[in-house]
Amino acid sequence: MSEILVVAEHRKGAIRDVTYEMITKGRELAEQGDLDLCVAVLGDEVGSVADEIAKRAPDKVLLGEHEALREYTHDGYETALASIIRERTPVVTMVGHTAYGTDFAPSLAAGLGLPLVSDCIDLRLEDGVLVATRQFYQGRVNAEIEVDNSRGSIVTVRPTEFPPASPAEPKAKVESVEVSVGPEAVRTEFLEFRELETAGVDISQAAVLVAVGRGIGEEENLSVAQALADLLGGVLGASRPVTDQGWLPKERQVGQTGKTVKPKLYIALGISGAMQHIMGMKSSDLIIAINKDPKAPIFNYAHYGVVADLFDVVPLWTEKLREKKG
Ligand SMILES: Cc1cc2nc3c(=O)[nH]c(=O)nc-3n(C[C@H](O)[C@H](O)[C@H](O)COP(=O)(O)OP(=O)(O)OC[C@H]3O[C@@H](n4cnc5c(N)ncnc54)[C@H](O)[C@@H]3O)c2cc1C
Repeated sequence: MSEILVVAEHRKGAIRDVTYEMITKGRELAEQGDLDLCVAVLGDEVGSVADEIAKRAPDKVLLGEHEALREYTHDGYETALASIIRERTPVVTMVGHTAYGTDFAPSLAAGLGLPLVSDCIDLRLEDGVLVATRQFYQGRVNAEIEVDNSRGSIVTVRPTEFPPASPAEPKAKVESVEVSVGPEAVRTEFLEFRELETAGVDISQAAVLVAVGRGIGEEENLSVAQALADLLGGVLGASRPVTDQGWLPKERQVGQTGKTVKPKLYIALGISGAMQHIMGMKSSDLIIAINKDPKAPIFNYAHYGVVADLFDVVPLWTEKLREKKG
C-alpha cells in the first residue's frame, strides 16, 4: 500500500473543481504517509482530461478508458474503480461528495469490504492511520473518526473545503490502466444530459445575493427580501425548501444540489445554515445572517449576525437604505 488515490470528476470534458481540491488534500496525506499521489481518470477518449489534471502535479495520472465508461453510470464507475483499487490497494481513495460520488462510493466500499467515511471536511494520516473529520447535528459538532485503513479506505470529500491545486511542475506522467467493464456490469442506460433551463439570472455571477430560507414563511413575503436586494443592486437566492416549494426557480438555489456562489455580499434571511447550504456559499466575501435562533449554525459562518425576526429588521434596513439613497 503506497498510494493515495483521487478519483477525478469530469463532465462533458470539464473537470470539476472538487478534483483539484482533493489533489490539494491528497498531496498533504501523501506527504504525511510518505506515499504517492495518484489520480484516476475514467471515461472514454478522455486523454485530454488526464493531461489537464497532470498539470496539477500529482505523482501519476491513471487513465482508465473503456467505451462502457463514455458516460457516467454508477455501476460502470464502481466496476472500473473496484478493479483499480483491488490491483493498487491505495491507503485512501478520495471521491467527491457530489451527486456522482455519493451515488457510487457507498456500494464501492461495501463491495470491496472497505470502510467509508462520507462528507469529510478534513483528513490526516497519523502514524499511517487515517483520521477523518465530518460533521454531525447539522454542522453543530465536528467529529474525528479514526479509520481502520489497514486494507485501505474510501472517503467522500465535501466540495469547496480545500483550495484547488494550482498548475505546478513537474507535470505528472499519464499511465493507461486496464479497466474491465463487461456489458453485464453496466445495467444502467444513459439516456441524455438535460441542461437546467434558466430564466436569465445566474446567481453564481451576482455581486450581491440576498438569500431567503424557510424563515421567509410564505411566497408573498419574498417581496420583503426583493426590496432589499433591489436597493443593494443584488438578486434573490434561496435555500432548498424555498425552491422545493416553487417560490423561486431551482436555478436560484444555493448549495450542494444548487449553485456554488462567491458574491461580495451574501445576506442570509431565515436560513438555518445546514451544511448542504453552507457548502454553496461559505466562500462569500462578506456574510450577514439574520435569524431568530441564536444557535443557528449559519452564525458560525457569518461575519455579522443579527439575532432577530427578519420581518422586524429587513423593512427597517430597507427604509434606511432608501433614505440614504434619497
Ligand atoms: C442530499 C441533500 C442535498 C441538499 N441540498 C441542499 C442545497 O443545495 N441547498 C440547501 O439550501 N439545502 C439543501 N438541502 C437541505 C438542507 O439539508 C436543509 O434542509 C436546508 O438547507 C434548510 O433550509 P432552511 O435553512 O431554509 O430551513 P430551516 O432549516 O427550516 O431553517 C429555517 C431558519 O429560519 C429561522 N427563522 C424562522 N423564522 C424566522 C424569522 N421570522 N426571522 C428570522 N429567522 C427565522 C429559523 O430559526 C431557522 O434557523 C439538501 C439536503 C440533502 C439531504
